[in-house]
Amino acid sequence: MSRPPATAPATWDVIVVGAGPAGATAARVSAEHGLRTLLLERASIPRYKTCGGGLIGASLAALPPGLPLRTYDTAGRFTFTHNGRRERTLTSTAPTCVMVYRSELDQALTEAAAAAGATVQDTTALNSLDQEGDTVTVRTNRGETLRARVVIGADGSASRVARYVGVRCAQVDLALEAEVPVDERTAARWRGRMLMEWGPLPGSFGWVFPKGDVCTAGVVAARGNPQALRAYKEDFLARHGLLGPRPLHDTGHLTRCRRPDSPLARGRVLVAGDAAALLDHWSREGISYALRSGRLAGSAAARVVAAADEAEADTAIGQYGRQVEATLGPEMRASGTLMELFTLHPGLVHAALTRVPSAWRSLDHYISGRTSVAGIMTTPLARAATALGTWLTPAPAHA
Ligand SMILES: Cc1cc2nc3c(=O)[nH]c(=O)nc-3n(C[C@H](O)[C@H](O)[C@H](O)COP(=O)(O)OP(=O)(O)OC[C@H]3O[C@@H](n4cnc5c(N)ncnc54)[C@H](O)[C@@H]3O)c2cc1C
Repeated sequence: MSRPPATAPATWDVIVVGAGPAGATAARVSAEHGLRTLLLERASIPRYKTCGGGLIGASLAALPPGLPLRTYDTAGRFTFTHNGRRERTLTSTAPTCVMVYRSELDQALTEAAAAAGATVQDTTALNSLDQEGDTVTVRTNRGETLRARVVIGADGSASRVARYVGVRCAQVDLALEAEVPVDERTAARWRGRMLMEWGPLPGSFGWVFPKGDVCTAGVVAARGNPQALRAYKEDFLARHGLLGPRPLHDTGHLTRCRRPDSPLARGRVLVAGDAAALLDHWSREGISYALRSGRLAGSAAARVVAAADEAEADTAIGQYGRQVEATLGPEMRASGTLMELFTLHPGLVHAALTRVPSAWRSLDHYISGRTSVAGIMTTPLARAATALGTWLTPAPAHA
């Protein structure tokens, strides 16, 4: 994409690292506040990103209005199975789950940042950073030394900036995913319908997302047993007739969920999105987290740059952490509780979802953005299921 202007400032107001949904949003919001903003991206834009590309209501609501974006399908029917058995397909009252390609979404978001005034420099990776006083220094793979008042690390789940900040995770999973071209008959079978299968490994599931002449299909489980996960993926794809065709992409990617006490900043360096390990523990939905934390980080950068002194800048950075906690913290805690229940008792979660109408209604409302996971987990049914799950779980043996 664009190169830095000939008159690049000696010190940028903000350098954003990573042009995914978190970074592109942070850069757009910073630029809208009038900040001299540089968005660095390691890859060449548009770039491939391993992702289902499913946008739930919370993600759609957090996109900039009027973003030009091609959608490939909208899921209105949801098939659930438990280890390939007890299949049930339920229909949404307000089909919302929109299927996109991440290369296109992230490019559109990056173009929106550029249109707002951000300078975008792709094929440029942050190699290291450090800070002194009110200046953060970034060194890149091109041998450049760049300076900024604030750096926002939005460099994804293998983030270098997160390592610098000291982000700590409660849950790290490995996801394996393939983009499989499908013939017309298979495409028709999946059109308007997505599948979620609760899998054989603890806390695992598989998915098929329809995108016209392509299905995105994958599996996810706790990191640590890649052979078992690969075997599950082969079996899953074979059972759904998606193993034969040569995939357009066949990749793996880590997903990470932060510990509640994990930092969101160190000095003038903030983290957002996957870099901050902001992600739903259960569904591993992360685009809405990236968009929302990216927006908060961009606004925080504006307050830091406008601060009269270091104390005011510190207050603005602390406020970023509190805002993320207030908006995304309850979501993460609730999804963590759901994930614990699901890991121990996937059959119970499957039975509730597919047999108790109010449970499906809650999930349907979550997908369409009418409630949150925190909202779901306070319903009487979810409370009862959590209590039942606790009761069914054997107490740990004492040494
Ligand atoms: C298999 C899989 C399926 C998923 N499906 C869904 C889904 O359907 N819906 C959903 O909501 N979420 C899904 N997620 C989660 C979602 O993909 C992430 O939460 C989301 O991409 C986070 O966005 P981000 O901007 O924080 O990071 P990313 O999208 O990962 O963007 C980070 C960017 O930083 C760049 N970068 C990395 N290092 C550097 C560096 N040193 N210097 C410069 N740039 C750098 C990368 O190239 C990348 O472009 C899925 C995740 C996986 C793994």
